[in-house]
Amino acid sequence: VSAEELERARERMVQRQVEDRGVRDPRVLAAMRAVPREAFVPSALRAEAFDDRALPIAEGQTISQPYVVAAMVEALSVAPGDRALEVGTGSGYAAAVLARLAAHVFTIERHAALARGAAERLRALDVRNVTVRTGDGSLGWPEEAPFDAILVSAGAGAVPPSLLDQLAPGGRLVIPVGASPVEQRLLRVQKGADGRVEETWLGGVRFVPLVGAEGWGEG
Ligand code: SAM
Repeated sequence: VSAEELERARERMVQRQVEDRGVRDPRVLAAMRAVPREAFVPSALRAEAFDDRALPIAEGQTISQPYVVAAMVEALSVAPGDRALEVGTGSGYAAAVLARLAAHVFTIERHAALARGAAERLRALDVRNVTVRTGDGSLGWPEEAPFDAILVSAGAGAVPPSLLDQLAPGGRLVIPVGASPVEQRLLRVQKGADGRVEETWLGGVRFVPLVGAEGWGEG
């Protein structure tokens, strides 16, 4: 497949799956066009890289559907100077999209092999403003807090209190929340300058569970 064909496939993906469904932020659309999604899917699934769905990656996890990444990132209202946290690095795809919008992205993944793979992919693509680490992201990343934007890429039963604590005044957090570990609605939380929190419910989604001290238990 040639570079031009890949670019056309990405352009089609963004137009039909993202723009036509209502994502309008030009910076988000540009980021979705620029990040080579094909580099983040397992090589056996390259042909499906631009399909309108999540795809399996290692450790029984998934790379999220393109539309869902775009909708979540748009809801985060990321500004160019922002420090962002992502919980659930997976393939590193969403981190690469965020990296085009924020000043720096800290992303944390509980599976060491996934964190390693994502870091390698990002390095190969010369993405320099992302720091990847292995750990329990339900507890956030206290050493780097506070964050202007927090993206949780796995489903929780409720907003982890540590993440709320690590949100800067004026900061936004987007997280899939649901009573079942595999079915959620997106929740957008905005912290006012006075520390007060405003919640907005967005659409329904299906994410793998957030497993950790402030997430679901193992197994
Ligand atoms: N954003 C990813 C991408 O673009 O490929 C997709 C992430 S996948 C839907 C969710 C990820 O969250 C999985 O890789 C899973 O291992 C990870 N995860 C689940 N609980 C976690 C936790 N407490 N801390 C860090 N990562 C976690």
